[in-house]
Amino acid sequence: MSNNEKNDITRRQFLSNLLRGASLLAIGASAGALLFKAKKVELVWQIDPKKCTRCGRCATECVLAPSAVKCVHEYSICGYCKLCFGFFAPGQVKLDTGAENQLCPTGALRRKFVEDPYYEYTIKEKLCIGCGKCVQGCNTFGNGSLYLQVRHDRCVNCNECSIAKACPNDAFVRVPAGTPYIKREHT
Ligand code: SF4
Ligand code: SF4
Ligand code: SF4
Repeated sequence: MSNNEKNDITRRQFLSNLLRGASLLAIGASAGALLFKAKKVELVWQIDPKKCTRCGRCATECVLAPSAVKCVHEYSICGYCKLCFGFFAPGQVKLDTGAENQLCPTGALRRKFVEDPYYEYTIKEKLCIGCGKCVQGCNTFGNGSLYLQVRHDRCVNCNECSIAKACPNDAFVRVPAGTPYIKREHT
């Protein structure tokens, strides 16, 4: 074999190796893009209950009226108290369900007798405006089982949540759409 023929074969091998390398790189890049797509998780807004100080802006700053933020209840940490400071207004006249004795401005927080001295508290979500008054009472004097959450059957997941912009404590965070709620735990 002449030197020219040898050089020709080496050049062809080099070019074919180069092409193989390039196509492997291309496969690698598209596999990477697919993996990135698969890993891209949809995010939604939620309130971190540990950071929320019940400032009241959740009721007034949402683009929706009433707000997409509602009070929710973690029953596993509720004391089922007879004298619930989330339910009763300070200086209440009587411990009964008269509107004048209730803290909630819309009557959204309901109570039901269980057995002496326990009562169960539930939220009628349609009436809740997310003002956080009951949450403040429950967190100041009770177990903190009442807390605020963005309800995803209402929230339109704005790119820039107007409550998040107004929140004084950066309590609004982005969470995966598959796990859209942050459960309150005993403090
Ligand atoms: S604006 Fe922030 S601190 Fe105020 S009630 Fe809403 S989440 Fe809580
Ligand atoms: S006090 Fe405010 S946050 Fe609590 S249930 Fe009533 S409307 Fe909802
Ligand atoms: S994302 Fe939009 S709709 Fe949802 S809580 Fe924030 S302002 Fe309201």
